[in-house]
Order: sequence, then structure tokens, then C-alpha cells
Amino acid sequence: MRLSRSHPRYASLKVRAELAELARAGLVAPEGLIAHGRGETFDYLLGERTSASARAAERAAADWLRHARHPVLSVNGNVAALAAREVAVLARACPGLGVEVNLFHRTPGRARAIETRLRAAGVREVLGVRPTARIPGLPSDRARVDRHGILVADVCVVPLEDGDRTGALRALGKRVIAIDLNPLSRTSQEADLPIVDELRRALGNLATDVRKRTPAPRDGRFRAFDRRAALAAALVTIDRNLTRAAARNRRASRTGRAWSRPAPGTAGRSRRTP
Ligand code: ATP
Ligand code: MG
Repeated sequence: MRLSRSHPRYASLKVRAELAELARAGLVAPEGLIAHGRGETFDYLLGERTSASARAAERAAADWLRHARHPVLSVNGNVAALAAREVAVLARACPGLGVEVNLFHRTPGRARAIETRLRAAGVREVLGVRPTARIPGLPSDRARVDRHGILVADVCVVPLEDGDRTGALRALGKRVIAIDLNPLSRTSQEADLPIVDELRRALGNLATDVRKRTPAPRDGRFRAFDRRAALAAALVTIDRNLTRAAARNRRASRTGRAWSRPAPGTAGRSRRTP
């Protein structure tokens, strides 16, 4: 289908078409398409922009990445499909960062397709294509990891992750940075540092922040982060956006005028999803 650039949600339709194509090619799991829809819903509710609290979380996460001994970024089908370029940019900005294929719905073909896409985008080394270790306490293929990657990582960045695996990583004593638009997901609730923002915006901001100079060392300690306050701030943003939308509808109802929804991303100003 040809998409019209003048469609108000052209950017979103284009991403959907790309994801559907990559699902047909086997890189994205069918379940990944559903997960994307859930993410889109929350991005709508959050105003499709990076909130001030998400931006603060991104700065703190970049600080953790700079302080980490062995940081690893976990990549699944959706992440490779949506943000291979942003992953490569972050990996270049943070040379110690391992990039590991980590799949909920693992097939050897999907793992290889993700590796190929990441390499084409400029990622030099891709871990986890043929897993060599297991995370204890997790059943099935979801436990399989790379013994030079997630298994030995001290900081794991897990975008679009599943709640169980987030919990299992924390149980191993790893610091978990989540990127997830749903502040109510178990992943966001479990993570040490939840970034409630869209994947590409978050990775772009992380790369920008990681490139900045490292602040004075803190005796090897990681900067404290109030994850509960970050989650509360995301929920307050959603609450405020819904309250405003309800008020606009009430006003339109009183005046009898048809109300049209503002164009996406115009509710406030910041970065839009590309
Ligand atoms: P959990 O198991 O943590 O409760 P879940 O079952 O809601 O999570 P999963 O399918 O396990 O969801 O993971 C997908 C998550 O990723 C969802 O919470 C969704 O909101 C989020 N998500 C999807 N697309 C994006 C995106 N582009 N950027 C950020 N988050 C996204
Ligand atoms: Mg889940």
C-alpha cells in the first residue's frame, strides 16, 4: 500500500509498514507487532514527546553507562527493526557497551537476521547469536544469553523487555535500565532505572549524554536514582494529558462545536518520534 505523506499519522503508519514487512521476513515476531501497538498507545497518552522526567532518567542512565565496568544493551526483534541505527550510534558513543541479541521468541534464523541488520547499521560485534549461558531461574529459551555479555554484565539496558526477565536480571545483582513507554508494565516497575520514553528518542538522547564529559568520579559508586518518583512522574504526565483532553471535549460539548484532536505531538514541545 502506498502511504500518503499528508496523512496526519504518516510517521506512525510508515513505522507500522516497516515492522509488518520485517515480521513477514521473520526478523520481528508476530507478538512483537502487538507489543508495538501497546507502546504506541502509551506514547499517545504521554503526548509523543520526551517528558522532563524521562529526560532526567536518560541523563542518569548515561551516567550509569559511563560508570559501568561491563554494560550490555539487549536487542530483540522490535529493537533491531525500529532502531538498528540508534543502537549503532550509541555503541560508537560508548565503546565499552556490549550489544547482545536477546530474544523472547528465539529461532536461530531470527537471531541471525537481527545480527545482519545490526551489522549493516554499523554495530561491530553482536553477542548472543549463539547463546553460551543461561540466566538462572528463568524457564525456556528466554534464559539463554552470552557468557561474555549479559551473564557478566553489571549494567543491562533492556528496551521493550519482559517483566520476568527484568526481575531475573535484578535477582542476579545487575543494575537494570529499562526503556519502556508503559510505566505500569512489570518491566518499568521492576527496573532500577526505568526510562519511560520511546525507544528511538531514548537511545538518541542516551548517545548524546554519553558523549558528554564524565563528571568527577564518585569512588566507583553509581549515582542514586529514584525510580518510584520517575514512574510517578510518567503517570502524572498521562493523567494531565487525559484531564486536558477531557476538558477540551467538555468545552466543545458545551459550545456545541465539533472538536478536533490536536495534531500529534503538538500538546507540548520537545522531540518527536522520527
Ligand atoms: P511486562 O512483561 O513488563 O509487564 P508487557 O507484557 O506489557 O510488559 P511486553 O510485550 O513484554 O509488554 O514488552 C513490550 C513493552 O514495550 C510494552 O510495555 C510496550 O509499552 C513497550 N514498547 C513497545 N514499543 C515501544 C517503543 N517503540 N518504545 C518504547 N517502549 C515500547
Ligand atoms: Mg510481558
